[in-house]
Amino acid sequence: MIPFMDLETQYLNIREEIDSAIFNVIHSYKFINGLEVATFEKNFATAQNLKYMLGLASGTAALHLAYEILGITSGDEVIVPAMTFIATAETVRQVGAKPVFADIDPVSFNIDCNGLEKLITPKTKAIVVVHLHGNPCEMDRIVSFAKKYNLKIIEDCAQAHLAEFQGQKVGTFGDVAAFSFYPGKNLGAYGDAGALGTNDETLYEKAKLLANHGRKEKYVHQTEGYNYRLDTLQAAILDVKLRHLPEWTEQRINIANTYHSLLKNLPITLPEMNPAKKHVYHIFAIATDRRQRIIEALKANQIAFGIHYPLPLHLQPAYSYLHYKPGDLPNSELLSTQFLSLPMYAELSRDNIEKICQVIASVY
Ligand SMILES: *Cc1c(COP(=O)(O)O)cnc(C)c1O
Repeated sequence: MIPFMDLETQYLNIREEIDSAIFNVIHSYKFINGLEVATFEKNFATAQNLKYMLGLASGTAALHLAYEILGITSGDEVIVPAMTFIATAETVRQVGAKPVFADIDPVSFNIDCNGLEKLITPKTKAIVVVHLHGNPCEMDRIVSFAKKYNLKIIEDCAQAHLAEFQGQKVGTFGDVAAFSFYPGKNLGAYGDAGALGTNDETLYEKAKLLANHGRKEKYVHQTEGYNYRLDTLQAAILDVKLRHLPEWTEQRINIANTYHSLLKNLPITLPEMNPAKKHVYHIFAIATDRRQRIIEALKANQIAFGIHYPLPLHLQPAYSYLHYKPGDLPNSELLSTQFLSLPMYAELSRDNIEKICQVIASVY
């Protein structure tokens, strides 16, 4: 059996550090706003090269706060790639605004920069980009597009911790960055967790206030807010894992390179390899018109797989109110039938990568 990811082996490799971090939080009894929260925020801000980092309860909370602190509100439109997890778009609706779905590029799998102009209306206020699977978007083009139309930029970095475009960390190009530490993410907590990053102090202060019931003092509330805090246990666990993240990221990149070299002669689309981008391979997704046959072969050999994502957002039942129809975003629709995510985690062995690639090659 080759699993899709292996959180058990990861834990066993760092067990002493994790166990003592958990023990220390329990014995501090500061389960909310403990010291470890500020420590992790500071260390993760440094890792992502952002001035301000606010630990939060989830990546979804980070996206919701990002739109709110940027003043996006009812009647506004936000450009959202159709190929992402629903959290990127449902939080647009949570502030009363409307997601306008953009197609993706068939090489990068990210938002298609060539198709953005036609989505602009007088109501467009922002664009959210998703560094899908850990591959950075073309941020130079996104930034100049946003400047031209006076749009805010939100970077959904949920899958892209430590990824870089032209040597610069993702999350530092836009106004606000949202990170997820869902357990399976490249940096994963032992439960739900997320963070909001920015270089703008005013935006940070707004987010901090909203995330903690709008208060600065215990029972004086400047505004109504939310309970979106990162809890101390998760922060302590994340701070331990953050120390290992650069090494785990390099291992993911090495594994991706091995996949590339073993699969390159097959008629399948591999993840983009672009020297301007540091892809961190949260997901190693291939695109193939023989998906079902490969799935059957993987199953027969007890190899786990995933599909990210099988239905683009514009065709989800949740968005029927926007009245999109099949054919509207052709690249997203085609790739949703072709994407196949292969096992990817720092501990994946060379032998297992070879086995996975042999099984795929056997289909051709
Ligand atoms: C995981 C993910 C989210 C949501 O993060 P949670 O921490 O699960 O709330 C948002 N966007 C993308 C692209 C994701 O992969």
